[in-house]
Amino acid sequence: MPVKCCNLTDKVAIVTGASRGIGEAIAKQLSSCGAKIILIARNSDQLVAVKETIISNGGIAESMAGDVSNLNSISEIVTNTIDKWGQIDILVNNAGIARDNIIMRMKEDDWDSVMNINLKGCFNGIKSVARPMIKNKAGRIINITSVIGQIGNAGQSNYAASKAGIMGLTKSMAKELGSRNITVNAVAPGYITTDMTNELNDEVKEQLKSSIPLGRLGTPDDVANLVCFLASDEAGYITGQTFNVDGGMVMI
Ligand code: NAP
Repeated sequence: MPVKCCNLTDKVAIVTGASRGIGEAIAKQLSSCGAKIILIARNSDQLVAVKETIISNGGIAESMAGDVSNLNSISEIVTNTIDKWGQIDILVNNAGIARDNIIMRMKEDDWDSVMNINLKGCFNGIKSVARPMIKNKAGRIINITSVIGQIGNAGQSNYAASKAGIMGLTKSMAKELGSRNITVNAVAPGYITTDMTNELNDEVKEQLKSSIPLGRLGTPDDVANLVCFLASDEAGYITGQTFNVDGGMVMI
């Protein structure tokens, strides 16, 4: 079980893309800090397994299958969460995909699905929680972007554009919702060991490590540590920012 770092007792948190990788680590850490967790992903099997692990460690969690690219799907989950637990304190927009290719070979569908899940998925999540958070006069929204949205990458035009879009969305939402005591921040991971990066061969991983001052790829818990802090009361005067968790790979 991850180490408890912040007090989130009785907070209600929604984590998208919570069935594996970074989202799973975020869900488990938020739970270990005392939050009740709604886990979202499209496929139920792994999601239920994460829920059962959280519950077996003494946490409170519910899994709800849904697709972040579909506004109705997410707003229904938000409504069900409020019916069940009365409020939403934290939203972590983590669900994301990559469909890499050079522009000459990238299919229109590869562009659309990455934009719809990565960027529109964040819009759908924020749109769905904004009203209940405004009513509650408090909220924490954390969007998972990527260093690729800052520096670009050959073969990842769709992914880079979606992640750069998340940073613009984060700043606009922070300005729009700040007066309602809702903070909106983004976390930009570098290369983290998950299914998304497992496809890289060992040679590429070694090359990457040599470009990272801390000399290693990150872990999902490296990202989750920061997300937990940004979700806490102690982060109440921080909004509109993007924080890198990348071993020093990108220094702006
Ligand atoms: P991952 O292991 O591939 O997990 C992705 C998660 O998102 C899964 O739970 C997946 O479940 C869910 N998901 C995908 N499409 C969805 C949809 N339409 N609706 C709901 N859930 C959906 O990815 P990861 O590496 O943990 O990445 C998590 C986030 O961090 C992503 O936004 C990614 O871009 C970002 N990131 C990752 C890295 C890295 O190095 N790993 C670096 C920078 C940024 P289902 O397939 O069942 O829906």
